[in-house]
Amino acid sequence: MTLAHPGEIMGLAVRQGCGVGAFNVIQLELAEAIVEGAEAAGRPIFLQISQNCVRYHGALAPVIAACQAVARAAAVPVAVHLDHAESVPLVTEALELGVDSVMYDASRLSDEANMASTAAVADLAHARGAWIEAELGEIGGKDGDAVRSPGAPGHTTSPAAPSHTASPAVPRDCTGPAALGHAVSPASPGDAAIQAAPRDATSPSCAVHTVSPACPSPAGGHRPGRRRGAHSPGARTDAADAARFVEATGVDALAVAVGSAHAMTTRTAALDLELIARIRAAVDVPLVLHGSSGVPDADLAAAVRAGMTKINIATLLNQTFTGSVRATLAANPDLVDTRKYFAPARAAVAQAVASLLAVIP
Ligand SMILES: [Zn+2]
Repeated sequence: MTLAHPGEIMGLAVRQGCGVGAFNVIQLELAEAIVEGAEAAGRPIFLQISQNCVRYHGALAPVIAACQAVARAAAVPVAVHLDHAESVPLVTEALELGVDSVMYDASRLSDEANMASTAAVADLAHARGAWIEAELGEIGGKDGDAVRSPGAPGHTTSPAAPSHTASPAVPRDCTGPAALGHAVSPASPGDAAIQAAPRDATSPSCAVHTVSPACPSPAGGHRPGRRRGAHSPGARTDAADAARFVEATGVDALAVAVGSAHAMTTRTAALDLELIARIRAAVDVPLVLHGSSGVPDADLAAAVRAGMTKINIATLLNQTFTGSVRATLAANPDLVDTRKYFAPARAAVAQAVASLLAVIP
């Protein structure tokens, strides 16, 4: 097996009632470790590259090429996936690089604007034979949120609102192509709907959205002063809205807010399993659980049984990798060769991936 189309992996999983692990890559060692773990478990997986990862590297092509090469050499089916892309030019670039699996995330917009821009990007993806995931009901704690400085433009507090009132369509992230070091692609014909997407690289606000490790948000939560309502960590996706969204956009999979949050470093998230089942019954595309690092093993299994298919995991792998590096360096403070502490970290992540895949039905 090798680099595989996500539709094949997900279609088989849905027919069999199984889950599929989707793991985020930052460094090459993580891609190697994830595939090693998948091979040990004998399971298909997704290798995911997020827009935040692309921002870290300053370019998409090198990290995509590395993941595609690792996938081609894998002994199990591996899909290479662009995760949480808010930039339409980034989606376009990924498609041009042969990526056939993308998540377009316009969930920071109002539901109506999310729907319009997602439908347009779904058309772009489908025209190239790609598979597209979208998100309805923003899942809290995204990487970009966790590192952004308080007080940046676009982060003012709105009064708590019912979950489906329109939120201001203000991009809360510096997601544009300039921020990613990408040339701006010419606007496609019929690009008007896409203009609603958060890709405003020309906004002066982008210049101040620098990464600031000194300003982390609480794990899994949002800082006081963030927008509330549909975009709060406690937000939930409504089943009827999910069905309407999928019908209107034509997406192939839907990420839903059911109790998990990104960047949790404790496995204490409480999923709403009844809601998962209701959404599963209402929509005819696979569901995606984001923020799965914070979900206990038993709940991951229960989520798949309730109707989740794609299980996204990132933070847990970073915790594992960093914990190993920290331990190795503490025990060997004179080490300078990165291979000496990356190798055990890579092995630890491979073991973690295999263990997680054993938990997911
Ligand atoms: Zn996510």
